[in-house]
Amino acid sequence: MECCANPKLKLIEELGHAESVDFDLVQCTSCGAYRMRSWSEHRPDQVFYEPMTPADAGQLMASQDLDRKRLLKDWFNSH
Ligand SMILES: [Zn+2]
Repeated sequence: MECCANPKLKLIEELGHAESVDFDLVQCTSCGAYRMRSWSEHRPDQVFYEPMTPADAGQLMASQDLDRKRLLKDWFNSH
């Protein structure tokens, strides 16, 4: 699942944990697409990349503490 012909992912922000899952926001420097990178602490060998809209990415970057945890849980429950 690639965002473009020449994906180059860079870490934007480590978002933290929710539901035993670790989340990072990454962005492709070739096309600008955001992805949510996540992996379970129980399965650290399995890493997932899900597409994320700029609106969702902006909301996560602007969030803090409990608000961010809620957003991560929402993301976890809907993916
Ligand atoms: Zn790309």
